[in-house]
Amino acid sequence: MSFHHSLEFAQQLDAQDPLAKYREEFHYPQHNGKDVIYFTGNSLGLQPKRSQKFVDDVMKDWKEMAVEGHFYAEKPWWDYHERLAEGLSKIVGAKKEEVSVMNTLTVNLHLLMVSFYRPTGKRIKILCEEKAFPSDQYMLQSQARYHGFNPEDVIEEVKKRDGEHFWRTEDILDKINEVGEELALVLMGGVNYYNGQVLDMEAITKAGKEVGAKVGWDLAHGVGNVKLNLHDWGADFAAWCSYKYMNSGPGNASGIYVNESYLGQKDIPRFEGWWGTKKETRFLMQPEFDPIDTADAWQLSNPPILSVAPYLASLELFDEVGMDALVQKQKSIVAFLEFVLKEIDKEVDSTFEIITPEERGCQLSVFLHGEGRPLFDYLMKNGVITDWREPNVIRLAPAPLYCSYTDMYNFGQILKEGILSK
Ligand SMILES: *Cc1c(COP(=O)(O)O)cnc(C)c1O
Repeated sequence: MSFHHSLEFAQQLDAQDPLAKYREEFHYPQHNGKDVIYFTGNSLGLQPKRSQKFVDDVMKDWKEMAVEGHFYAEKPWWDYHERLAEGLSKIVGAKKEEVSVMNTLTVNLHLLMVSFYRPTGKRIKILCEEKAFPSDQYMLQSQARYHGFNPEDVIEEVKKRDGEHFWRTEDILDKINEVGEELALVLMGGVNYYNGQVLDMEAITKAGKEVGAKVGWDLAHGVGNVKLNLHDWGADFAAWCSYKYMNSGPGNASGIYVNESYLGQKDIPRFEGWWGTKKETRFLMQPEFDPIDTADAWQLSNPPILSVAPYLASLELFDEVGMDALVQKQKSIVAFLEFVLKEIDKEVDSTFEIITPEERGCQLSVFLHGEGRPLFDYLMKNGVITDWREPNVIRLAPAPLYCSYTDMYNFGQILKEGILSK
């Protein structure tokens, strides 16, 4: 599609956009009486209007029923989390049984590593990307130490090539084969938080499995953003948070995926709690753990209903829209944003270097040569919510559910003014 750089053209794209009506489903922070241009759905998604009711319902049931709400609320709390599995399984490309909602992301990665990082003999190494998200680095290092290793001896990082801003699939695959029979686990961010790159999760999973390693994915930036096919790829496990592209609310519950080949097993290493044991016998309060036949076996505690409720509301929206339509708009709005950046680039002295490769989802990470923090401050003061990473990178993630083509055009104008008014 060829784009034009004008407000009218952007408005025309919005008029033709089948997802445009979903803007109405969200609350926007206000700037001078207008909705902000929101580029940080990769950090905290906007609030869907319908999530309020889901939370209010729980508060009301608690007020009126107290403990009885566990079983007699309209959506009873004791199995409330099960309502999320179906919708989520479609988003991550898994079977319903392979998905569960619990805890928060880093907690879940630790719990899953208990099951899937089982260093034995010389198979002790963990492969990840260099400069992984800090929480993932701390998690991997502490897991290594927990098993009695020096993290430096067991964690292998795939590097980018000198002067390049992205990982090459061939380099990742080579590294997997090089570590080979010493490789116990591949655990990477499927979509990188910094450069927005979508890794070839299918090829990497296959290669990892072929050398006999387990393969897990951190999908914090992948879920609700790109098409995922965890089951068909044969991934062993995955986890994600829900407050980024999934719009579930700050610090909200995480999701996990565990491949069906591990379900229903009693002897798998796992940290266990009462919410993972079969429902039929749970309240007999007996000492023996009888794992649920689904990924729910990894549940420890009764779930935080007040945080799961808005996640369910958000899933309802995703279910209505569907990942195909979402990804279609995403490709088109990101392409338009890229076009706008290139047009503005011609009109100003600075140069924008997009460091996100072609394999991308919603996010463009842009190096602003010749600019600095004052430009970021200007954007924020003028109703553009974005984020800044040292040295001078802004990350722009136009979430397709609530960003418009007009937003992209207007952003370009504000960016230009910010640079020219220096
Ligand atoms: C956002 C993010 C996290 C955050 O973890 P929490 O435990 O939810 O605080 C972890 N890993 C990656 C890759 C992320 O992008």
